[in-house]
Amino acid sequence: MSSEPLTPPPPIRILGVPVHPMTMASTLAWVAAAVAARAPRQVCTANPEFVMTAQRDAAFRQVLNAADLVLADGVGLLWAARRQGRMLPERVAGSDLIYQLAELAARHGWRVFYLGAADGVAAEAAARLAARYPGLVAAGTYAGSPRVEAEPEIVERVRAARPDVLLVAYGAPAQDKWISRNKAALGVPVSVGVGGAFDFVAGVAVRAPRWARRLGLEWLHRLIRQPWRLRRILTAVAAFPLAVLTQKSSPPD
Ligand code: UDP
Repeated sequence: MSSEPLTPPPPIRILGVPVHPMTMASTLAWVAAAVAARAPRQVCTANPEFVMTAQRDAAFRQVLNAADLVLADGVGLLWAARRQGRMLPERVAGSDLIYQLAELAARHGWRVFYLGAADGVAAEAAARLAARYPGLVAAGTYAGSPRVEAEPEIVERVRAARPDVLLVAYGAPAQDKWISRNKAALGVPVSVGVGGAFDFVAGVAVRAPRWARRLGLEWLHRLIRQPWRLRRILTAVAAFPLAVLTQKSSPPD
């Protein structure tokens, strides 16, 4: 991490998408600095699917380019960086980050708001984290909806709760676009798109065992547990590597 705690090291571009070379430790230090600084900032947890979606969705591409921090939530991104002779030091997955953030929040007394997922899941995730990290305060929990019509009411609800950290679980690209559209109005120092993390924390979905994650096989576990995700998984394990291997020239940083 550079000397200025809120300036992450220069991003590595993967098919035009910036990804910051952060570790879990440097990410947590960045979050602590961002909460102290108070200005609204956005964190994205990118994976190969994000990169492929960004190829055809210019608005999403813009959101990723404007985000304050884009983390590598997928071993495919580490591999793609290595092919350019660059290094993303480790995977920083949203589903791991949520626990680390909760621990840090409990320690510092930060208020966390949990937005998204199916009815009751955000509340269950918040309750489980509070049980695990005594002192953790939920500023609020709400399923809501990523639909534009629901926005004014949700923004008001989150603003009124005055969280320090906002976790948004609407899946990509909806959650990241939602944060980008609303972060100024929300005034929350750190907003993070966390994908399916509430489902894992609440026990609605089960994560791959540690050994499978270490071998980069989380996708295989997901395919077995959730076969309906085949199309999305193929994007990550086939279309993305193919796009990386056949790209014409590496885009400028
Ligand atoms: N979700 C939601 N509202 C929507 C669409 C999705 O709350 O309109 C939630 C869904 O319940 C899940 C999360 O968004 O908790 C996305 O999960 P997924 O595993 O698809 O996320 P990924 O990390 O793969 O993007």
